[in-house]
Amino acid sequence: MADATMPAWSVVTPGPLGDGPLRLVEKPVPVPADDELLVRVRACGVCRTDLHVTEGDLPVRRSGVTPGHEVVGEVAGLGAAVRGFTPGERVGVAWLRRTDGTCAYCVRGAENLCPASRYTGWDADGGYAPYTTVPAAFAHRLPADVDDVALAPLLCAGIIGYRALRRAALPPGGRLGLYGFGGSAHLCAQLALAEGATVHVLTRGAAARRLALELGAASARDAYDMPPEPLNSAVLFAPAGELVPVALRALDRGGVLSIAGIHLSDVPALHYESELFYEKEVRSVTSNTRADAREFLALAARHRVRATTHVYPLSRADRALADLAAGRFDGAAVLVDDLS
Ligand SMILES: [Zn+2]
Ligand SMILES: [Zn+2]
Repeated sequence: MADATMPAWSVVTPGPLGDGPLRLVEKPVPVPADDELLVRVRACGVCRTDLHVTEGDLPVRRSGVTPGHEVVGEVAGLGAAVRGFTPGERVGVAWLRRTDGTCAYCVRGAENLCPASRYTGWDADGGYAPYTTVPAAFAHRLPADVDDVALAPLLCAGIIGYRALRRAALPPGGRLGLYGFGGSAHLCAQLALAEGATVHVLTRGAAARRLALELGAASARDAYDMPPEPLNSAVLFAPAGELVPVALRALDRGGVLSIAGIHLSDVPALHYESELFYEKEVRSVTSNTRADAREFLALAARHRVRATTHVYPLSRADRALADLAAGRFDGAAVLVDDLS
């Protein structure tokens, strides 16, 4: 495949979607490094982080990067040093791409905090293309009985939602509030419900509230409404800092709010008595470890966690991002290659 090229989406100049920051260009088919797999992309989920990379909310880490870090694909080539994978095998490619494995954080099992970490679709080209690469040590084995499109959103939205849920320290049978109800939240909700939680969803958008109730949420209200009962835990999925005090006021004494997003607008000043006192806690969530991914993928298979998906042809990735930004679909968008 030397010298072969492929069509691929590229963030040419990060900025508002209306200015066309994402362009379809011709790139070389990537060549895997010695420790990497070449992956033929079968499906790639569209994550809000792709929007942050495209619009420049996150700094540029690779000029002209191809976004996409929820890839279900098959092994199409092996670097010289790779063992344990075979061509044709199905693998998942997720956000966390590399860590140094040697720093204090990696050594204590917190590789999500590694200062040397690298990310798919930000530091390296991702899945908005027919081919991508992944270090073999960071490729995920996938359950056999779920189709490519349904699996793709689990690889970031699902894993991050899982880490955010664990960071929210929900007690068994507890009352959980989810602020925002997109790709990540609707997977987190299914897992929490399967584990016995009562789930209250607070989000703008009638379609998202409908989906929440269909999935078994006890209530679904507007983002700024109070839930019907005090919450033990809450997860903020919407990238809106102004919801932090709103969610804190909804917490019961001793409650925990975890913030799932990689990007958040500024948090307004907090009122100590009503928003922090009584040992309420705010926690951020930074990426995920490979252990999080393994745990979540196993739990998702056991509890039949399924993404509600909307398929877009790869040639319309720009449209999928615009629809995500505008909240025009519930669940998660997934790209399927129509370019090769
Ligand atoms: Zn490290
Ligand atoms: Zn993501």
